[in-house]
Amino acid sequence: MCPICQGLAGHYLDYQKIGKGDYQLLRCYNCRLIFTVPLPAVDFLRDFYQHYDSIGQTDNYYRNIKNYRRQVVGRKLINHFHRLNDQYHFRRDLRLLDLGSGGGMFLDIVKQAGFSGLGVEISAPATKFARENFAVECLTADVSSVDFEEQFGAVFMWDLLEHLSQPQQLLGRINNWLAPGGYLVIETPDSRALINQLIIWLLKIGIRWPASWMFGYHHLYWHSQQSLAFLLAQNNFKILAVERFNTEPARIFPWSWKFWGPRLVLGLVNGWAALIGRHNKLLIIAQKYEEQS
Ligand SMILES: [Zn+2]
Repeated sequence: MCPICQGLAGHYLDYQKIGKGDYQLLRCYNCRLIFTVPLPAVDFLRDFYQHYDSIGQTDNYYRNIKNYRRQVVGRKLINHFHRLNDQYHFRRDLRLLDLGSGGGMFLDIVKQAGFSGLGVEISAPATKFARENFAVECLTADVSSVDFEEQFGAVFMWDLLEHLSQPQQLLGRINNWLAPGGYLVIETPDSRALINQLIIWLLKIGIRWPASWMFGYHHLYWHSQQSLAFLLAQNNFKILAVERFNTEPARIFPWSWKFWGPRLVLGLVNGWAALIGRHNKLLIIAQKYEEQS
């Protein structure tokens, strides 16, 4: 049964097929959530993220964060923040909370825009990097166990929700941390992405490395617009806007002649996904319900 909407769920992917042990992904027929069963233990996940590539140690995705303004990922995040702030006018008298703050890139964007920010990040190497390189304030902690006395003007989760084992309880707590009318911004992979479907097809014909790269303990939940709508409504948020976009090939493959093939393929898949509205990322802007008096 689906942990978000209680709908009926069926088989999506067996982790044994990608050499990752005894886990399964199930898909809800009602809200299209894809979820991991059984959920890995909390201790396992904490250790896992101490070695996760959150600051570009081993992979290209977060490569060279120090110079993030010149990177595709950095420029995109800067644009998102300024565009959202132009539209929603985040309060300057309250701090902005970045959950899963990684190497501190977003906290630095917030700081450069004249706001005060606070980050929470489970990876000790990532928080160390953030403090040393950007002089931003962030706690090394699991977002599931932190609590705050103060109220925040907005809470951001860039690529975090899919990694959490208990997303339901976190959203309720975020609602308590927000000032009345405060905003919640969630960016997360879309379970209905064209690329997921293509990767499952490749697996069926025996090409398993794309599935092995995409699916694993780092993505416990793949949300859809419907599952997020359930989750947000259950926790007293109203949705203000839903946006969709694709991860650029430059974020995954470095500039090198060796990667022109994969970049071209991903570029074509992105174009196709955009045509049919099946992008790989969802961005949802929600607001805490005003309490009725
Ligand atoms: Zn569901």
